[in-house]
Amino acid sequence: METPLTIEETHKGLIGKKFSAVELVDSYLKQIKAKDGKLNSFLTVSDEVAYEQAKSTDKAVAGLGKDAVKVHPLLGVVVAFKDLFLTKGIRTTASSKVLESYVPAYSATVVRKLQDAGTISIGKTNCDAWAHGASGENSDFGPTKNPWNLEYVPGGSSSGSAAALAANFSLISTGTDTGGSIRQPANFCSIVGLKPTYGAVSRYGIVAMASSLDSIGHFTRTVGDSEKVFQVTKGADDYDSTAKDFPDDAAEIKPHLKLGIPKEYFGEGLDREAEKAVLDAAKVFKKMGVELVDISLPHTKYAISVYYIVQPAEVSSNLGRYDGTRFGNPRASFGAEAKRRIMLGTYVLSAGYYDAYYLKAMKVRSKIIQDFLIAFENVDAILAPVSPTPPFKLGEKAGNPLQMYLADILTVSANVAGLPGLAMPFGFNSKGLPLGFQLMGPRFSEEVLFALGKEFEKETEYKPKVAKL
Ligand code: GLN
Repeated sequence: METPLTIEETHKGLIGKKFSAVELVDSYLKQIKAKDGKLNSFLTVSDEVAYEQAKSTDKAVAGLGKDAVKVHPLLGVVVAFKDLFLTKGIRTTASSKVLESYVPAYSATVVRKLQDAGTISIGKTNCDAWAHGASGENSDFGPTKNPWNLEYVPGGSSSGSAAALAANFSLISTGTDTGGSIRQPANFCSIVGLKPTYGAVSRYGIVAMASSLDSIGHFTRTVGDSEKVFQVTKGADDYDSTAKDFPDDAAEIKPHLKLGIPKEYFGEGLDREAEKAVLDAAKVFKKMGVELVDISLPHTKYAISVYYIVQPAEVSSNLGRYDGTRFGNPRASFGAEAKRRIMLGTYVLSAGYYDAYYLKAMKVRSKIIQDFLIAFENVDAILAPVSPTPPFKLGEKAGNPLQMYLADILTVSANVAGLPGLAMPFGFNSKGLPLGFQLMGPRFSEEVLFALGKEFEKETEYKPKVAKL
């Protein structure tokens, strides 16, 4: 059986009895077992849970027929969870030796919502430990490889989720984006990645990295599927006071949309082919009737500094709970990158340095937010590159933290300002490595981004590709 590519195709196959959910799980597991040795995208494969859920899926189809999809909008959708998502009864490590044998007693709200919607959990994916990184190489359980070329990184921190999806080991996968960890690996693996508005999706039950920046999203092969998953995961949650329902005045899809091109995102250091992909995408949007507008976000150059002050400050506070007493292994089990961030964060928050670093960063954060507010008075969304370079080689930046931090230069602003971002694939470079772009919009403008993205896929006759291994 050929594994279906989209949610709709999965539903057609299940309802039309072309295959059962158990056969679907068989087929994904077969792929994982045969090929994941090359990628290292999974830390835990949850066969038993998957088969149990597949049997319930088949029962729902037998009992309800077509209506099964109405009751469970993501019926039979096989999902891989980044190992930061707490899954009741299934080991959750955050890719760190600290949580090597931690089995949560409860599931994250998003995990619960996806399960209620009918998904099948196939396993937990590798990532940079505690989501610290942009290449997947900070995992305590070995790096994940890029399925398009095994010598290259798949991006990070949601490395395993992106690589697994590009290799067709699942139909969707989840990620977290604190400074780019969904959009950048999506860009490096040629798939669609959604970083929702801050607060649009509950953070409850997801290992916290930096709580004012963390955004919970997912990877899919098409924009339509991304929207379907978001319909399920979004919304208020009693367990996360920052999670909100969409406001009544959320951005609407106007008949005439304007797309801003920020000059600061096309500066020095941007790879020529990466730039060309975005400019070519701009031409497609123009052909679709979208108006292109040159804009400026003048404080962009400070975003990376703001991020690397605010984020470690919050990391140092969040990682305080892993004291080895209540759960997990002792603090000596933290890897080098986590220790670096704990020290940096403690430093910028300590008496005497707080005003010079943390407080200053918070003031500049307001300036960055203001830049976007001003820009969105005139445009509906922004088109930009995701990463300054295409995927880099394994080991290329691993020994140089500052170089690695610069990989986030085009993604952190959306987190600093709490905005949604949709990364989309668009072609490959001369070395056969993925290219693409991101769309950013005002808070709670996901519907506008989806509309633009779906239309773009139609216009370019986009067909998702699976990396051959
Ligand atoms: N690469 C960024 C960092 O290391 C982003 C990480 C993330 O979004 N989780 O901080």
